[in-house]
Amino acid sequence: MTGDKKAGALDAMLARGAAVQAYLDQDEYWINRQREKVLIVHMDPEWRYNASRMMERNAARMADLYNWGDLGFLSRFPMGEMAQDGFESAMDSRDHDPAAWIRTTRLYQALVAGLPYKRKKLAQLAERAAHFSTCPRRTGAILAPCRCATIGAAMNRTTS
Ligand SMILES: [Zn+2]
Repeated sequence: MTGDKKAGALDAMLARGAAVQAYLDQDEYWINRQREKVLIVHMDPEWRYNASRMMERNAARMADLYNWGDLGFLSRFPMGEMAQDGFESAMDSRDHDPAAWIRTTRLYQALVAGLPYKRKKLAQLAERAAHFSTCPRRTGAILAPCRCATIGAAMNRTTS
């Protein structure tokens, strides 16, 4: 690789890192599979649950990109040793336990806000969320049975 190409690849990582930071540090929108922004207030609990689980599965990659964002920030704004130590320990803890870290991000917090936290209701939500991808009410599929009502009967009684 030539020096220019190396610099280009580095710049690309720093740019991706900055973009991931901007995304995780906000609490208004989710980016769906079609790469469209969806307002979180328009997402139902099953969708928000699935989105939060997806963030947990991708936590290690997100932590890595977020750290690239920090590196870019440090390279643009050189700072004193103590402030730099703060950044480095934050990067270390992201690397060490990405799943714990991702749950502290604003985006994750916004997705799980108001979701049930008691085990039984959360299990019902998880089951309905798993049904999400085949649910005919959501996908328009004619042959798949909709199990939303049976899965969520108990939950619906308490939330409606
Ligand atoms: Zn359904």
